[in-house]
Amino acid sequence: MKFGGTSLADAARIAGAAEIVRGRLARRPVVVVSALAGVTDLLARAVTAAREGARDELEPILADLSRRHSWATSGSVSSPKRRHDLDLEVGAIFEELRQILRSVRVLGEGTPRASDAALAFGEILACRIVTAALIDRGVAARALDAREVMITDGRHGAAEADLDEVTRRTGRVVPPCLAAGEVPVIGGFYGATPDGRTTTLGRGGSDTSAAVLGCALGAEEIEIWTDVDGIMTADPRRVPAARTCPVVSFAEAAELAFYGAKVLHPAAIAPAVRRKIPVRVLNSLNPSGAGTLVVEDPPGGTPPLVAVVSRDGVAAVRVSSRTLRIDPGFLSGVLQDLEAAAAVPDLVVFCETGVTVALPAAQVGDDLVSRLRMRGDVQVEGGRAIACIVGRGLARDAAVRVRVLAALAEHGPEVVALGGSSASAALLLPEGRLESAVRALHRAFFEQEAA
Ligand code: ASP
Ligand code: MG
Repeated sequence: MKFGGTSLADAARIAGAAEIVRGRLARRPVVVVSALAGVTDLLARAVTAAREGARDELEPILADLSRRHSWATSGSVSSPKRRHDLDLEVGAIFEELRQILRSVRVLGEGTPRASDAALAFGEILACRIVTAALIDRGVAARALDAREVMITDGRHGAAEADLDEVTRRTGRVVPPCLAAGEVPVIGGFYGATPDGRTTTLGRGGSDTSAAVLGCALGAEEIEIWTDVDGIMTADPRRVPAARTCPVVSFAEAAELAFYGAKVLHPAAIAPAVRRKIPVRVLNSLNPSGAGTLVVEDPPGGTPPLVAVVSRDGVAAVRVSSRTLRIDPGFLSGVLQDLEAAAAVPDLVVFCETGVTVALPAAQVGDDLVSRLRMRGDVQVEGGRAIACIVGRGLARDAAVRVRVLAALAEHGPEVVALGGSSASAALLLPEGRLESAVRALHRAFFEQEAA
């Protein structure tokens, strides 16, 4: 069971998370925690301030961090004795953090290694606090240091777990805990090299921790507890009728993430999916909801389409060949220019006379445009948006493709892309028409069955 930062935002949420764990003791959970909401950002700012020697900036950040954690501890543990012990523990951890930041400040130099050592403190603190909150509710729990189990390579800031070694280490420490009736609590996001240097897995890395630990332990399921009801059929801010998708395949989850759904980064859970461990995304504010199950291959009978997603702030860039035919190397040249400008296209559509690329408008700079002008005539149209229907039915079922294409065509798209990817069909249209298109598509594909 992995709890994200928003599920641990304050004492009340920590108490809620502890109750959720208590309700699942029969399944012998292992708990993975993120830092409290906002804490990793603050730690990153603290490292920067220390590196720049900005003591006057560093102190308020540390004070803020300390205040947030003492609010959390005082509200989530009721026994005065336990609260006192926890305060001492948290105080000692803060002292260690101060020492690291002090050495960064004195040296005026923060290596990636020092930065990792500091960033890990969010999860180290959360792990202690959640453990205490569990114990306070009569749940036997034990805080484990992720550095004992999450063994990684030495790429600071983007370390990768060594699954074999993690399996050996967890095999040594986790089963004895479970056998003793204790819930192991482990900080996500960080680990250590075999020789004990603290590493981090990259921002948002606690989902990865949960997936790796779930694999190492052969978990029956990995639960990702967040603050929304799983993966939704549309962005509920845009489509009020959006509802939770009960089951989503891994490929569909990857498409959704590409178009900006933020709930789950599929790369993070890839190891679990590969080992066929189901991943469930659940809402800690609505713990009785069924959430979304992410599996490699959903069972038959599940819907062929899962969601309509969209992205605005898109620009369409058309590059037309001046010779009215495509010379060899034209397309690869355009793609190289995009790469050189660190632009990541959402759609690429190619025809006899040129290519149209849809990409985030912010990525279309003068530099990119002038490079492209060397290849052909360039036309940039901003104010565009992409709406995209995602579902494996698009790959498998010609009838589904026909229905989707017909529905997309009704919105007068400037570009339609279908088949480039197995699990999505996208259209490009003026931003002003996005809202109504998304709602209509949602109505057409996701509202009748629900009614
Ligand atoms: N606390 C870390 C971050 O904010 C890791 C995570 O939340 O997954 O990036
Ligand atoms: Mg976080």
